[in-house]
Amino acid sequence: MTVPDRGDSRSVAVVTGGNRGIGAEVARQLAEHGYTVVLGSRDLAQGEQAAARLDASRQQVLACQLDVDDPASVTAMASWIGRNLGRADALVNNAAIDYDTDAYAVSADLGRVQRALDTNLLGAWRTVQALLPLLRRSPHPRIVNVSSGGGSIARMTGGTPGYSVSKAALNALTRLLAGELRGDRVLVNAVCPGWTDTDMGQGGRPVAAGAASVTWAVLLGDDGPTGGFFRDGKPVPW
Ligand code: NAP
Repeated sequence: MTVPDRGDSRSVAVVTGGNRGIGAEVARQLAEHGYTVVLGSRDLAQGEQAAARLDASRQQVLACQLDVDDPASVTAMASWIGRNLGRADALVNNAAIDYDTDAYAVSADLGRVQRALDTNLLGAWRTVQALLPLLRRSPHPRIVNVSSGGGSIARMTGGTPGYSVSKAALNALTRLLAGELRGDRVLVNAVCPGWTDTDMGQGGRPVAAGAASVTWAVLLGDDGPTGGFFRDGKPVPW
């Protein structure tokens, strides 16, 4: 990846799983708001294609290989950003797998549950840890964990066990990080995009609307909330 020499100091946002779905649209919206966006993609070629589609100038959306399950890939991404951009101001933990509508907690394949936890919880956690040194140096740092109403313990009634438990755990991580990073001025929130028409959420609302729910939490002012769970800018029950 060639980094454009713009000689400016735009804020940098990292979006995991940015090659398609909500992540790609969040990348587009953040670029529109003036961010330099690092578009993380497991498959670099797909990431490059998405970046070209979102930003024909190739100045503002930069693809980076990123598999959040792979510690070496996450470390390499953080080093690459440190070396080439020198800053990270926002992290959107968007990458996730396996909306397991065919499964139930009473009979779930625990290997499958473990894979969901690996990506949806530990992948996000690992990416936060890798980028924290840069985020802590940002004047307006933001972490957005893309969660789901499926992770709301208050609303669980059974079904989608791996996905729901992984998102509930991501919500718990959001609370812990928000508390621990308050002193560093990092606003950390969980956001549900709502049922959105992607490969994962076929038939839902337009991708732009789901993504806007997420982008909102990146664009918060310094007096914005931290440690909350939101959809479309409004609180969702934990
Ligand atoms: P999607 O269309 O299935 O896209 C998922 C993205 O995550 C893809 O870019 C995928 O990359 C990436 N990904 C998966 N595993 C990864 C890994 N190990 N490392 C890096 N990237 C990985 O899903 P979506 O609907 O856009 O969902 C985005 C977020 O919104 C997720 O957190 C999801 O749980 C949440 N959400 C969605 C809905 C909905 O209705 N769509 C509702 C509530 C919450 P590949 O292309 O390489 O597979």
